Amino acid sequence: LLLPGTTALAQTKTAAPTATNASIEQRVAALLAQMTLEEKVGQLNQYSGREVTGPASDRKNTLLTSISSGKVGSMLNVKGVKDTREIQAEALKSRLKIPLLFSLDVIHGYQTTFPIPLGEAASWDLDAIRLGAHVAAKEAAASGIHWTFAPMVDIGRDPRWGRVMEGAGEDTYLGSLIAKARVLGFQGEKLGGTDAVLACAKHFAAYGAPIGGRDYNAVDLSPQQLWETYLPPFKAAADAGVATFMNSFNALNGIPATGNSYLQRDILKGQWQYPGFVVSDWASIAELVNWGYATDKKEAAQQAITAGSDMDMESDTYSQNLAQLVKDGKVKMDLVDDAVRRILHKKFELGLFEDPYRFSDEKREKQVLADPQNRAAARQMAQKSMVLLKNEKATLPLTKQLRSIALIGPIAKAKRDLNGSWTVDTDTTRITSLYDGLRQRAGKTTQLLYAKGCAVEGDSRAGFDQAVATAQKADIVVMAVGEGWNMSGEAKSRTDIHLPGVQEELFKALRATGKPVAVVVFGGRPLIFDAIADQADAVLFAWWPGSEGGTALADVLYGDYNPAGKLPITFPRNVGQIPIAYNQQYNTGRPLIKVSETRYRSAYIDAPATPRYAFGHGLSYTSFKYSDFKISRSQLKAGETVQVSFTLTNTGKVIGEEIAQLYLRDPVASVVRPLKELKDFRKISLKPGESKTITFPIDKDKLAFYNSKLEWVAEPGKFNLMVGSASDDIRLEGTVDLLP
Ligand code: BGC
Repeated sequence: LLLPGTTALAQTKTAAPTATNASIEQRVAALLAQMTLEEKVGQLNQYSGREVTGPASDRKNTLLTSISSGKVGSMLNVKGVKDTREIQAEALKSRLKIPLLFSLDVIHGYQTTFPIPLGEAASWDLDAIRLGAHVAAKEAAASGIHWTFAPMVDIGRDPRWGRVMEGAGEDTYLGSLIAKARVLGFQGEKLGGTDAVLACAKHFAAYGAPIGGRDYNAVDLSPQQLWETYLPPFKAAADAGVATFMNSFNALNGIPATGNSYLQRDILKGQWQYPGFVVSDWASIAELVNWGYATDKKEAAQQAITAGSDMDMESDTYSQNLAQLVKDGKVKMDLVDDAVRRILHKKFELGLFEDPYRFSDEKREKQVLADPQNRAAARQMAQKSMVLLKNEKATLPLTKQLRSIALIGPIAKAKRDLNGSWTVDTDTTRITSLYDGLRQRAGKTTQLLYAKGCAVEGDSRAGFDQAVATAQKADIVVMAVGEGWNMSGEAKSRTDIHLPGVQEELFKALRATGKPVAVVVFGGRPLIFDAIADQADAVLFAWWPGSEGGTALADVLYGDYNPAGKLPITFPRNVGQIPIAYNQQYNTGRPLIKVSETRYRSAYIDAPATPRYAFGHGLSYTSFKYSDFKISRSQLKAGETVQVSFTLTNTGKVIGEEIAQLYLRDPVASVVRPLKELKDFRKISLKPGESKTITFPIDKDKLAFYNSKLEWVAEPGKFNLMVGSASDDIRLEGTVDLLP
């Protein structure tokens, strides 16, 4: 099952995590020794249990019997102290009284909803991202949850793929740091804290690169791309101690990930020495049959356990076949034991054998969920996630002097949409709309007018006249447009990522009034909105900002918070440009734009090759100057560090934060390298007129890449170093020589 050309395993950069608690190992061994084969298989079995707490039904009875007879190791989709305690009590009736693990997709908040992960990534603020995951874990843990299926650390470079909303964008360096921050946020420093849950790095691996952006599909990837772009965030999560991995629905170079030994056995559990366990994705073991990789569920079970999938989510493939496979000699007991050991280990680490209810009681649940600090953190995270794409004639921030604002558009009063996809909380009264946020902030001196104008989808223009009339009465128009919350997320791929419906037409009608127009765009992915990008006075991209979205938007629109977000994913001009991640550009010797009829360009004849908004782009209400570029030495040897430094000055009138970015290019190498790769960044707050010196250390490891033998190497020679405000806005450049 090895990928071609990968017989020698690629070298990784950091040492594997080691040292597990010896006494836990002994307890696991003692328990394992008492278990029957059926009880072992039970631990590998996970069911979704919305029905288990519902009204009486056959499914409910079957589930409860399975649980109380030790045939289930984990439940997903049961939440709340009352329900989890009730179901845990069933598990404690079983012979060995092994507690269940309760798991849930706590993706961007539990009750308090934070911005979608892609929005959080736009903050480039690792502390805030970690805090967001911590708050989610705290609420979930107080509500009986032990384990979240997050973070999704898949690199996503294709905005047609609906799940880009759930990741950290297209860049591996940024994505790896965010993976670590999220793992530490969910789990705390050590497993078992009352405010923490087990995390899960998913979907292993390369789920973010499906053909044509079609969810669940096959992935064809060169070994270099796999190692260089898609695996590092998983390695970062493993190094941060992530308790579990989830495998994925896709096939990778012909082998479904769930049955893929190269990924799970050779890389994860072999080379990385990963001590946690791997859960399958939803029914992905049974889907080995659909892929045509297994003839039936029995063969699928054999392939999945052999390949290293420890727990079967929902497909009943292990529960129906594993014991028989062991009895038939087709699966060694050792394999089953190893999987059970890994799962029991986490249950011990979590403290479930000391307290199967994990300190959860309804009083604590109520208290934690009502803690106002959770919402304060969500509001700050939402502020930090917003990206100011355009701001001409200082249209934003809004001022006290405005006599009236016309808030227009289908998302102006929306609530559910603001939470985006993958939310746990269903109570929309907890969501602050943009209208509510502005209403409160605008106060008595500014009148807030409103018109919906049109729906997100559909072609009715019936509301246009009223919207135009409303705009005419106001000093400024603030538009709220976007895709609907359920247009991005799992199984939400789109071929057309324009703003849906007639929203751009509505914009043009409002534009024609001559009033200044600032547009807030909501969405779970990069969207295309040509007229708005060309003609609006200001454009703020708000992603799906969560429970405090409306308040945070008012903070940003009024300049109480100066926006500082930067795009973690490229916004194309049209779908035909995809893939267009910034680090997929090479120097082909051919121009990207038309130079003459005789010079053939490496682009399109009908559109520029540049994106609409580049990776790293994002404006501020202030301006920054980059100066005094210094590279501490012109030559570098192994073991040495070069300091790249510069001065950053706030040249505007208000306090602001800049995310200064360091890019690198290796102009001559044994494998052709991209024009730019992000290697470091710093988020710095500066008062007006204030300057700070920023230093980026560069050692040999920063210059390395995977060569054609999949060795992690830095090859001697010159390297270009670029510092700037965005991948297409480089302000300072220099070089350093790596000596042999
Ligand atoms: C998704 C996973 C998720 C699981 C459980 C699957 O369809 O791909 O990301 O964790 O469902 O809800």
